[in-house]
Amino acid sequence: MSARILVVDDVPANVKLLEARLSAEYFDVLTAANGAEALRICQRAECDIILLDVMMPDMDGFEVCRKLKSNPATHFIPVLMVTALDSPADRVRGLEAGADDFLTKPVSDLVLIARVRSLTRLKMMTDELRMRALTSLEIGVQAPERHAVADTGKGGRILLVDDRLASYERLAPMLAAEHTVDVEPNPAEALFHAAEGNYDLLIVSLDLDNFDGLRLCSQARSLERTRHVPILAIAETENNARLLRGMEIGVNDYLLRPVDKNELLARARTQIKKRRYTDHLRDNVQNSIEMAITDALTGLHNRRYMESHLSTLADQAASRGKPLALMMLDIDFFKSINDNHGHDAGDDVLREFAVRVRKSIRGIDLACRYGGEEFVIVMPETDLHVAGMVAERLRRAIASEPFTVHKGARRIEVTTSIGLSALENKSEEVADVLKRADNALYRAKHEGRNRVVADESANGPGRLPQASGGRR
Ligand code: GH3
Ligand code: MG
Ligand code: MG
Repeated sequence: MSARILVVDDVPANVKLLEARLSAEYFDVLTAANGAEALRICQRAECDIILLDVMMPDMDGFEVCRKLKSNPATHFIPVLMVTALDSPADRVRGLEAGADDFLTKPVSDLVLIARVRSLTRLKMMTDELRMRALTSLEIGVQAPERHAVADTGKGGRILLVDDRLASYERLAPMLAAEHTVDVEPNPAEALFHAAEGNYDLLIVSLDLDNFDGLRLCSQARSLERTRHVPILAIAETENNARLLRGMEIGVNDYLLRPVDKNELLARARTQIKKRRYTDHLRDNVQNSIEMAITDALTGLHNRRYMESHLSTLADQAASRGKPLALMMLDIDFFKSINDNHGHDAGDDVLREFAVRVRKSIRGIDLACRYGGEEFVIVMPETDLHVAGMVAERLRRAIASEPFTVHKGARRIEVTTSIGLSALENKSEEVADVLKRADNALYRAKHEGRNRVVADESANGPGRLPQASGGRR
């Protein structure tokens, strides 16, 4: 896992030191000697993580961090503050400025590498999600960064796992100042509790009396329902080996006892903000996937999806020796529905048409809106004869009951013409099967509409006996 780290410090010796340590771990290192230079590099999206010195002339680290975090273009770059000051007040100032974490000079190698690795993991995950979510931007969904920038990180749901009364009686009220807190004093119940509770953050004491807190963290990481919930560990002393192990397992952050209230709140807010941000990205990705394959007006699949999926279905049918039928439908005189009743009424008809299509087919059939008022239904394991019966039933379901439009104010008679074809042999291109259904549809139109016509090149009757024009 390699990443590009930007080291920002006004003292060249400090830069050199960090650069050497990071390079030894095969990280790529960029450097900047002041805040303005750092901002320029970040703006050009040239780094994955920033190690930022606090005390710098002109613009100090807090200011640089605030600028980065309030700009949607750089907001997602993790910031690791490096400071000589080790008072809780300074840590809190950094976290308030939006820093993702803290290192105190002199920086221990172990902690430096653990922190950088953990932030690299986070960055890679959010990068991946952001990339996938970009498509949703193109179709007008709001950018998730905006949300993240505005989020205060307050009002979260927290589960505190701690079996020492004196400890949780102190911690819970601190957290309750900004969040909803549940306490789980029984570590054996904690995992179940965490999985059921839909929490934004787990706070786990690593010094439980009768349980290994790290084991609990690792179980939470492997369970589907808690995998994405951030974990903040609380440790008794700076036990590097154990904390490092925790970071490897996927603990997101830690605090040392005695816990400072402001630091606890600031770290909790940071984790909750990140959690909401990644959740939001994940939802966006889900949405954009759905939007990419669904027709917005009717909720049926769209043409792109059908065309890509049709070849898979055809391959399956061919390899299993099963038939595959295809139905192409086109609403009759649809233009005049628009002309006579308005475009909205036309849309109502398309929606209702889709509802009736769905009711007439099986779950394994694939229905899609192929174009304006054209639809395609792919029917696996269905031969032309059975497809003819389904098509006829559907034709009747459309023609027999007028469509209501304008919220029920009007009823319009609608009919549809249907062309059928079937996959004929293994090597046939799906485009040809579609083409033959389209030809059959053309004939149905030509012969008077409101009828079903099957492709004539198939073995069997061209025009189906059930299909006749003019019937309702
Ligand atoms: P035919 O019986 O030969 O199919 O005649 P038709 O009028 O149905 O066919 P034509 O292709 O001439 O007209 C289709 C019309 O469908 C034209 C187009 O404006 C309309 N249309 C396409 N998409 C939509 C849509 O999303 N909503 C509405 N309301 N109308 C649409
Ligand atoms: Mg039409
Ligand atoms: Mg048409």
